[in-house]
Amino acid sequence: MASDILNTVIIGSGPAGLTAAIYAARANLKPLILAGSTPGGQLTKTSEVENYPGFAKGINGPDLMFAMMDQAKFCGAEMVYENAEFIDTKTKPFTLTYGGGKKIQAHTIIFATGAAPRWLGLPSEAQFSPPRGSGVTSCAVCDGSFYRKMPVVVVGGGDSAMEEANYLAKMCSSVTLIHRREDFRASKIMIERAKASPVIKWELNQVVDEILGDTTKKVPSVTGVRLKSVNGGSTKELQVAGVFVAIGHIPTTSVLKGQVDLDEDGYIKSNDRQETSVEGVYAAGDCHDRRYRQAITAAGMGCKAALEVERYLTTHGIH
Ligand code: NAP
Repeated sequence: MASDILNTVIIGSGPAGLTAAIYAARANLKPLILAGSTPGGQLTKTSEVENYPGFAKGINGPDLMFAMMDQAKFCGAEMVYENAEFIDTKTKPFTLTYGGGKKIQAHTIIFATGAAPRWLGLPSEAQFSPPRGSGVTSCAVCDGSFYRKMPVVVVGGGDSAMEEANYLAKMCSSVTLIHRREDFRASKIMIERAKASPVIKWELNQVVDEILGDTTKKVPSVTGVRLKSVNGGSTKELQVAGVFVAIGHIPTTSVLKGQVDLDEDGYIKSNDRQETSVEGVYAAGDCHDRRYRQAITAAGMGCKAALEVERYLTTHGIH
């Protein structure tokens, strides 16, 4: 029955998905959000967000996301707290399988499934990461200012690591960049910029063997790192307050494999209208954007995707 086919399903409930939902709901498209089992996206794992416009004194990450969820629901979006399991974009309307085999059909889909930072995989890393502890993070722009005038380390040798180090060098007392090789994946200009900073020190051919910290506190916090040389295995300790892990991100797009074009790292390919390789399927936020990865840019893409959905439905005489 035609009425059973939804205008649009939004997969993901971070800033991109929820902004798309707000716009789609206000256009009377009655969007359904597949919010996943942990709604709100990466910001629910951040403490203070000080760079989202409109909050002069900053806002707690989970509070910001709950406010966006409330707004989406107030505007008329329906939210289901389940994960998408399979998407068939080969036939129209599209078929989505979610929540243990339930099926729905939709004329359009907005993918806003986000990306997850890649972590080192040390047990101590989880112990000192929010919400359990403090001192380990993957976002200098989000958390750097909490380490003002303190020594920190950045782990990684790509553009992200250089960018994080340069950003932190403006506020921290020292920034030590730890990389497992002598050569970098980062672009020349980013390396040169980091090398020009008197605040940035280098520990090359080193891996983080352990993150050290005070576990007697109510919120366990970082006090240092133990480094291990890849040449011979000797170890040494650095006293630092923060560990910024910048070893890449993993876009959450496995459910899409074979359904829309992804790049070699799994990011959804889309144009500046957020259109993917399949007409009627849109991508917004970190599952598509490897460059900016900010809540505000994700929200902007969510807005664009919803406006394009509205246009698509009108053009095809569906809504
Ligand atoms: P990336 O280029 O994949 O670099 C990841 C770095 O982390 C590599 O140096 C890698 O070491 C290291 N690494 C990976 N796993 C590790 C592990 N388990 N332990 C220790 N080190 C590990 O990721 P990225 O820096 O996030 O950049 C991703 C993309 O975004 C790139 O295309 C980049 O150019 C782009 N980007 C651009 C900008 C900009 O232009 N402003 C800023 C940020 C990112 P190996 O080299 O030894 O593998």
